[in-house]
Amino acid sequence: MRLKIFLASLAVVILWGVFARARSAPITAGPIKLYSVDQKRYIMSEKIVKSDEEWKKELTPEQYHVMREQGTERAFTGEYWNNHEKGVYRCAACGNDLFKSDTKFESGTGWPSFYKPVAKENVGTESDDSYFMKRTEVHCAKCGAHLGHIFPDGPEPTGLRYCINSASLKFNKK
Ligand code: FE
Repeated sequence: MRLKIFLASLAVVILWGVFARARSAPITAGPIKLYSVDQKRYIMSEKIVKSDEEWKKELTPEQYHVMREQGTERAFTGEYWNNHEKGVYRCAACGNDLFKSDTKFESGTGWPSFYKPVAKENVGTESDDSYFMKRTEVHCAKCGAHLGHIFPDGPEPTGLRYCINSASLKFNKK
């Protein structure tokens, strides 16, 4: 009997974890002001809205899982957690400038970690209560792609840790 109750509770917990997964608010078409690292100024751009089918065709299965289904790559497996080259990390889905190498730091987590984005306009955030954690989800402001999460245990000057999946990034060496 106790086992039955335990198993039923476990099922509820697992289902809740799955269904409570926050998805980014669907991005709506329209103009957006973004910072361009190459041009060193703000530029007007258009948000990118595509169907799941279209994204599936353009992205690798891993990129699709991370960027469109809020997935997380396994720690220490991504392309960039140990990358120390100078350059810009752009959105792997749309090319939007996201992070500069000089804001990347050693977090020891196995995911590329930054203390701030290129500009606050270039990313969006959403509260994410999945898996019984209060977390802040971060996504690309131009195409809505899920990037990772923000935690309040980063270094100065912001005290924030942007914990980002390599799968969501495309690095361009300076
Ligand atoms: Fe993007």
